[in-house]
Amino acid sequence: MKIALCIKQVPDTTEIKWTEHNTINREGVESIINPYDVYAIDAALQIKKATSDTEITALTMGPAQAEGMLRKTIALGVDKAVLISDKKFAGADTYATGKTLSRAIQQVLPDFSLVICGQFAIDGDTAQTGPSIANHLNIPQITFVQEIIECTPDYIIVKRQADDGIETIKAKLPALICMLQSGKEPSRALINGYKRAQKAEIKTFTMENLGLLPEETGIKGSPTYVSRAFRPIITRTSEKIFYSDTSAQTLKDKILEFMAGADE
Ligand code: FAD
Repeated sequence: MKIALCIKQVPDTTEIKWTEHNTINREGVESIINPYDVYAIDAALQIKKATSDTEITALTMGPAQAEGMLRKTIALGVDKAVLISDKKFAGADTYATGKTLSRAIQQVLPDFSLVICGQFAIDGDTAQTGPSIANHLNIPQITFVQEIIECTPDYIIVKRQADDGIETIKAKLPALICMLQSGKEPSRALINGYKRAQKAEIKTFTMENLGLLPEETGIKGSPTYVSRAFRPIITRTSEKIFYSDTSAQTLKDKILEFMAGADE
C-alpha cells in the first residue's frame, strides 16, 4: 500500500519574521520539523513494519531549505520524498495549501491508500490542512488520532480522542488521518538511514508541474486574509474582596464592569 505523509517545517525561533502580508517569512529562518509530524512519521513507519509492500512518500510544501527535513525523514525509514516549492505558493492559507498538497498527492501517488498528517502545525496552528486535503481528494478523514490499532490495504482502525472520551473508528481506505502526540518515544535514525538519505533523489514540483494556475495557489488562491499578526501582551491584575455584608454586591458590580469592558 502507498502512504502519502504530509510534513511541515516550522520556525525554530521566537524571532519570527513577518512578510508584508502578515504571513511568516520562512526563507533563511532556522527550522525544525513540526513536532506533531514526528508522530505522523512514526505512524507511517508503524504501518510499514506491520504491512508488507508498504511504501511511504513524504511531501512538503515549503521553501528550498525544506529539502533537509525531507532527507531526515528518509534517514528515519521513509522511502521517497517530494518537495513542493515555488515562490507562487508563498502566503497560502489552508484552502490553497490543501489544494496544492492534494494535487501533488494525485500526481505523485495516484494509487495512494492513506494520507497521514500531523494534527496541528505549531506556527499557523489551524489544524485545517489535513481536513482540507481530505476534502480536495474527496476521501474520509479521521482527526485527533492517538493510536493506530490495525491497518490493512482495505481499511484502518484507530483510536481517536473525542471531547468526551476515546472513540474507536474503522474507515475504508483510501482515507486521511491526522495524528496527535503519542506516548511513545519517536524513532531515531541509524547510520545506514543517514547514508541512504544523503544519496536519495528528491524531486521538486512547481506550480506548473502540478498544473495549477497562479489564482489557485499561494496568496492569490487564498480566501483567508491575515489582517494583523501580533504577540498578545498578557497582563494579570487581581483584587481581593474580603467577606462583608456588601461583598456579594461588590463582586457583582466588578463582574458587570468587567463584562462592559470586554464588550467595548
Ligand atoms: P495545520 O493545519 O495546523 O497543520 C496540520 C498538518 O497539516 C501538519 O501537521 C502537516 O501534517 C500538514 N501540513 C500543513 N502545512 C503543510 C505544508 N506546507 N506541507 C506539508 N504538510 C503540511 N490560514 C487559514 O486558512 N486561516 C487562518 O486563520 C490562518 N491564520 C494564520 C495565522 C498566522 C499567524 C499564520 C502565520 C498563518 C495563518 N494561516 C491561516 C496560514 C496557514 O499557516 C497556512 O495555510 C499553512 O500552510 C497551513 O496551515 P497551519 O500552519 O495552520 O497547519
